[in-house]
Amino acid sequence: MPQVSWAARTDVGRRRAKNEDAFIAVERVFAVADGMGGHAKGEVASAMAVEALGALPTVFQRTEVLEAIREAHTDISRLAADTDGAGMGTTLTGIAFEPDNSTSVLVFNVGDSRVYRLREGRFDRLTHDHSVVQELIDAGEITEFDAEQHPDRHIVTRSLGDGGHLDIEWSQEELQAGDRFLVCSDGLCREVADPVIAEVLGAGPDLDSIADRLLSLANDNGGRDNVTVAIVDVGRGDIEIDAIDISTTPRDEVGTAK
Ligand code: MN
Repeated sequence: MPQVSWAARTDVGRRRAKNEDAFIAVERVFAVADGMGGHAKGEVASAMAVEALGALPTVFQRTEVLEAIREAHTDISRLAADTDGAGMGTTLTGIAFEPDNSTSVLVFNVGDSRVYRLREGRFDRLTHDHSVVQELIDAGEITEFDAEQHPDRHIVTRSLGDGGHLDIEWSQEELQAGDRFLVCSDGLCREVADPVIAEVLGAGPDLDSIADRLLSLANDNGGRDNVTVAIVDVGRGDIEIDAIDISTTPRDEVGTAK
């Protein structure tokens, strides 16, 4: 896998009483989960989703990532049914670098969190929202602009925990040295326009300050939702997988709601 560096943050925002977002940012997996459902259920669901990815073996392939997501979906759905957790669920969106694959990255999505890529000044969204408003946009019934004010703008059409068949959107994207990825919850992209996100994301090599700046912008623009970002740079050299000591890597972390 390629050498990567990253920064990840989550913030409760300005309006919500608690943070139901969660994230994982480790050597190979970077993902955001946006939990939903009242009475603490959302934060349980989002934590379960990222923890399922954190339990992947050191060496894994795409099939194991997708299987981990399916198992989390089954577990969350069961818990929702067992504990009167109707409406409990979570998005799960991110990227995974298979250790034996240095030429592409797995991009996966369920729900309306997003993955963007900045490559040589070009900013692309790599995921498709699974939401009521995205379906209306796709059908030509409303515009992106209308979607921002639509009463159903928070309703997702796929989630982990909904009890149904889980259709995971995924793609395998070719990598270029210098690619920069952003994984974020809707608390960022609802508050900050894509061109502004692109400009901040491309502002220099300091990923920590870029992550802080994105959270500040979301809060300055209203902070109406929890906001989570993970920024990942793909380096220019390969590293040997057996050179990574995952038990002592200090930057490994699983972020969950507090
Ligand atoms: Mn959200």
